[in-house]
Amino acid sequence: MGHVKLHIPGPVEVSEKTFRAFATPMIGHRGQGFKDLYAKMQPQLQSLLFTKQLVYLATSSAWGVMEGSLRNLVSKKVLCCMKGAFSDKWLDVAQRCGKAAEGLRVDWGSPIRAEQIRAKLATGEFDALTLIHNETSTGTMSPLTEIAALKKEFPDVMFIIDAVSSMSALPIKFDELGIDVLLAGTQKAFALPPGLTVFTCSPAALAKAATIKDRGYYFDFIEFQKNAADSMTPSTPSISHIYALSSKLDDFFAEGLDARFARHLALAKMTRAWGAGHGLTLYPEAGFESVTLTCFNNGAKPGGRAIDVAKFQKLVKDRGFLIDGGYGKIKGTTFRVSNMGDETEATMKTLYAAMDESIAKLA
Ligand SMILES: *Cc1c(COP(=O)(O)O)cnc(C)c1O
Repeated sequence: MGHVKLHIPGPVEVSEKTFRAFATPMIGHRGQGFKDLYAKMQPQLQSLLFTKQLVYLATSSAWGVMEGSLRNLVSKKVLCCMKGAFSDKWLDVAQRCGKAAEGLRVDWGSPIRAEQIRAKLATGEFDALTLIHNETSTGTMSPLTEIAALKKEFPDVMFIIDAVSSMSALPIKFDELGIDVLLAGTQKAFALPPGLTVFTCSPAALAKAATIKDRGYYFDFIEFQKNAADSMTPSTPSISHIYALSSKLDDFFAEGLDARFARHLALAKMTRAWGAGHGLTLYPEAGFESVTLTCFNNGAKPGGRAIDVAKFQKLVKDRGFLIDGGYGKIKGTTFRVSNMGDETEATMKTLYAAMDESIAKLA
């Protein structure tokens, strides 16, 4: 049996070109070769994140920096915005780090709105908040611009934003938004193998981190800043990932960021239209759908038949594609289809054809 192509929302399919870059012969991480590699990427990363701040490279999956953000920036209490499996987990992680934390919960599939956050921050209890821009478990995007605008009212609150499954698929303008941390793991929209996280911090975040005594070492933001200023990382990074990232960034800029953003939106719309053609409804609230993945309800419109998700997934897999059968408490009642990374209209159409055949088999 050949390779089953990944259309789950991470990890996603990695190109041959990226794997070739990943297999570049090893170099030392304190040598000029590594510094040149990182220095070549720094302006590309800054363009991608729309920032003048240095962009850091952490050898870990996203959770490393998600936990690190709490350890670097929370001294009073963190407000964890919760609307799906990943954002719900962030509260648990904060508590495991011994931080005072409170959840702001909305129904899965709903976005978090600025009004709800404002009401909480107005209590003056919080010095940080965590927000997942694109909640991957539900395919729901929260309105980041409206939320980031609150930073002006609450300048002392650290705005920690997870863009794990959205960074590089749509513009997230770090400096303009005025947020404090922006991070993404590379196995989602970047289409790299898992194991690397890209992130940046505001000057305010670095100043706050400097006041926190127990921020640890491996994810110490001050260490990342100091080392990045010299085109290095605090500890030995996964140099293979960094070669792969460099190759990928060249791809991004060869395509053009605007074209890349437009491609993701167009493919997400195509996937939604594919589902509508089968009478399927979307799990996220209308107007807040993700542009990198689509989360469908398995139940068809009134009168239609529900899809047996496990069977459907198996039939699609037999045709060479892995889609996701729903995450956490919505496993089996939803399914998710990713269009992030290198997908094109043509590759998505081969997936839709396999899903069409599979749905026909279910009948
Ligand atoms: C995948 C994902 C994570 C977790 O990433 P790991 O790579 O498992 O650490 C966190 N947040 C979001 C939004 C994700 O999609």
